[in-house]
Amino acid sequence: MADERRMKVLIIGSGPAGYTAAVYAARAALEPVLVEGMQPGGQLTITTDVENWPGETAIMGPELMAKMRVQCEHLGVSMVSDLIVNIDLSRRPFVANGDNGDTYIADTVIIATGAQARWLGLPNEERLRGKGISACATCDGFFFRGKHVVVVGGGNSAVEEALFLTNFASRVTLVHRRDSLRADKTNQNRLFAHPKVDVIWNAMVADVIGELGLEAVVLEDGQTGARRTLAADGLFVAIGHDPATALFRGQLDMDADGYLLTAPDSTATSLPGVFAAGDVKDKTYRQAVTAAGMGCMAALEAERFLGHAAMAEAVAA
Ligand SMILES: Cc1cc2nc3c(=O)[nH]c(=O)nc-3n(C[C@H](O)[C@H](O)[C@H](O)COP(=O)(O)OP(=O)(O)OC[C@H]3O[C@@H](n4cnc5c(N)ncnc54)[C@H](O)[C@@H]3O)c2cc1C
Repeated sequence: MADERRMKVLIIGSGPAGYTAAVYAARAALEPVLVEGMQPGGQLTITTDVENWPGETAIMGPELMAKMRVQCEHLGVSMVSDLIVNIDLSRRPFVANGDNGDTYIADTVIIATGAQARWLGLPNEERLRGKGISACATCDGFFFRGKHVVVVGGGNSAVEEALFLTNFASRVTLVHRRDSLRADKTNQNRLFAHPKVDVIWNAMVADVIGELGLEAVVLEDGQTGARRTLAADGLFVAIGHDPATALFRGQLDMDADGYLLTAPDSTATSLPGVFAAGDVKDKTYRQAVTAAGMGCMAALEAERFLGHAAMAEAVAA
């Protein structure tokens, strides 16, 4: 039967940002409710080795997220297997509806719904993700020391990923479907001047080849349609991310790419009592540790907001 739940803090999302917000909110005795969404544990559940989480030399992504969940359980966080499908931020308390029919009535909301990397949609891409195919050079570049990697994309992110990868790879090939890049000129100049970098213009990656790991990419010429195989150890897809913010469109300020906007040095969104943490508001760092840091900030800010609201009520009474 559909349930109506009342809470001080509703946390939407169960990635590093959501779980960390839950830890801090629970330890502040706010009894948070965390709705996990379609991907319990978030993006790290689809990766293998994580080597940049403090305190863990190397840990599998799903194991790290399982540990965060256990910590939340230990602190008594109420974790709900549901997906928020609708939220009304125009009235207080805020009202959200879950896909399972439940209603969540909350004094504050912490949005930690993350973002999803855009993939190419190639026939063999999903099978080789984490086995040579990545969407994050900061996360995985280290694994390609002395190897040849291909980067797909033409914007600033693609160029920055390619340049970052030159720290490890012996050769970096940027593949772009047009004959010029969208990236800014300074980035382009650095890229073209780099001795490890070559660019293949007017080409698309049409498929990937490999059994246990990536061995080659299939390139298709945009003009002639001719296909050829290029041997490569890694493929970095840098064609953008989609923040999960559709629910909040028209209710909260966002940038042109749909990322939630927050006040400087804060997770406060354009609406008092609503906070945003992690990849849903961050297109610069996109790391588990930064998402977790913002989750901490959001919980502390929610706690302060509730404290001020309680104080205002007491003064008014
Ligand atoms: C393949 C891969 C490898 C990576 N490797 C590393 C690495 O080695 N190190 C590193 O630091 N970072 C890595 N990253 C990046 C890292 O995973 C992200 O920066 C981090 O997960 C962001 O955390 P987040 O909590 O903001 O969001 P996410 O992890 O994206 O989690 C979002 C959560 O929101 C939930 N959600 C979404 N919509 C709703 C809704 N409507 N209702 C309820 N819940 C909802 C989802 O179910 C999910 O639980 C990697 C990313 C990928 C894709």
